[in-house]
Amino acid sequence: MNNHIDIIPILSERKRIALVAHDFKKKDLIEWAKFNRETLAQHNIVATGTTGMLLENELQVPITKLKSGPLGGDQQIGARISEGVIDFLIFFWDPMEQQPHDPDVKALLRIAMVWNIPVACNRTTADFLVSSPLMTTSYSKVEPNYEHYEKRNISGN
Ligand code: PGA
Repeated sequence: MNNHIDIIPILSERKRIALVAHDFKKKDLIEWAKFNRETLAQHNIVATGTTGMLLENELQVPITKLKSGPLGGDQQIGARISEGVIDFLIFFWDPMEQQPHDPDVKALLRIAMVWNIPVACNRTTADFLVSSPLMTTSYSKVEPNYEHYEKRNISGN
């Protein structure tokens, strides 16, 4: 679909970052977060329940903890992205394991694309994102404008 593009939100220097890791990826995320603790501490962190609990213990930084992913946490993050209150998603999903909440995983990745959110799904991408100079400056985000879609003709004519 051909969407219009608007520049709307300004991401401030203090980003609102969501962190999620599947069980076999939690160790990876914790190691990564420990290495980047000083950077992460300058931003607002929100996480799914278990990931958030583990990270808070390790990093000793405040983290907003939502429901555990399979209990609705992924959907809570997705809702927050669509409300414009999450700027950035670090989601270490596991490509080698079936997840009971696979539809939620897919939905979260989809909604991040819908709203042009930066997404890192592995450590290397997360390293590149977190070391970007844009992490510490404000940033005018190009946001898709779905007015065209919202005003679409649904009469079938
Ligand atoms: P958890 O959820 O952090 O509560 O384990 C992660 C997920 O599986 O989405």
